[in-house]
Amino acid sequence: MELLRTIEEARQFVLSQKKREKSIGLVPTMGYLHEGHLSLVHTAREQNDVVVVSIFVNPTQFGPQEDLDRYPRDLEKDRNSCSQASVDAIFMPAAEEMYPERFHTWVQVDTITETLCGASRPGHFRGVATVVSKLFNIIQPDRAYFGLKDFQQAVVIKQMVRDLNMPLEIVTVPTVREADGLATSSRNKYLTAKQRASAPVLYNTLKLGQRLIEAGEHNADVVHEAMVKEIESQPNTRIDYISVCNPETLAPVDKIENRVLLAMAVWLGNTRLIDNILVEA
Ligand code: AMP
Repeated sequence: MELLRTIEEARQFVLSQKKREKSIGLVPTMGYLHEGHLSLVHTAREQNDVVVVSIFVNPTQFGPQEDLDRYPRDLEKDRNSCSQASVDAIFMPAAEEMYPERFHTWVQVDTITETLCGASRPGHFRGVATVVSKLFNIIQPDRAYFGLKDFQQAVVIKQMVRDLNMPLEIVTVPTVREADGLATSSRNKYLTAKQRASAPVLYNTLKLGQRLIEAGEHNADVVHEAMVKEIESQPNTRIDYISVCNPETLAPVDKIENRVLLAMAVWLGNTRLIDNILVEA
């Protein structure tokens, strides 16, 4: 497995693979890899000759009050995980190389970035779209892999690829969960034992919404209210948002008639967790 620390090293690696007509699958991550990331890697492994995992804690997608400085890192463990998963190369550039002085170009996806996480994290998706565009330009993958845990992110990336005619396929992968339903996340490390014990409330609340809809509830307000109550029944939780929305436009729905996305962001102490499920009406 190769460790590519500069854009030039990555370009040489990509060039040699392209010369040999190898297909490339890219898994963009911020590291501190867990089973969720590895599920993306396994899918990429099945579908491509060469798998590249990028590990880059992208400063431009963090707000000034967010957790950039304390975001967990463990390169040794990540290297082992990737090596065991038969990854061909890890690309881990320095922030200074990705964003040199006089960096002035941004990728802005409109409308679908203004709701859900975009509403509470202004500029977040501009940072995501920009860094993912850069990664696509550097690695030139045939396919790139994104988890449905970050549903809005996957929608934004697909929109960007379509709008800017980027020549690759975006593959989405289902959310991986702990045994009690909590979606695996690098940020779960922040949780105290008490908060960790409360954390399954997110998924339980999504399942509650699903049960209501499957039992025939068509009024989104009723579903929304029941979900709010369920989260609030756990002490130490603070709702950022809970949404019953259209999975394509991400706009809230009034009447549940088709497939809907139930999505939420909830604070447990200083840790903001997100989760979502798709539900058939
Ligand atoms: P991150 O390192 O948090 O930026 O995540 C990198 C990629 O892994 C993103 O496409 C995420 O959606 C995906 N991912 C993170 N957690 C999970 C999970 N529990 N299940 C599936 N994919 C995940």
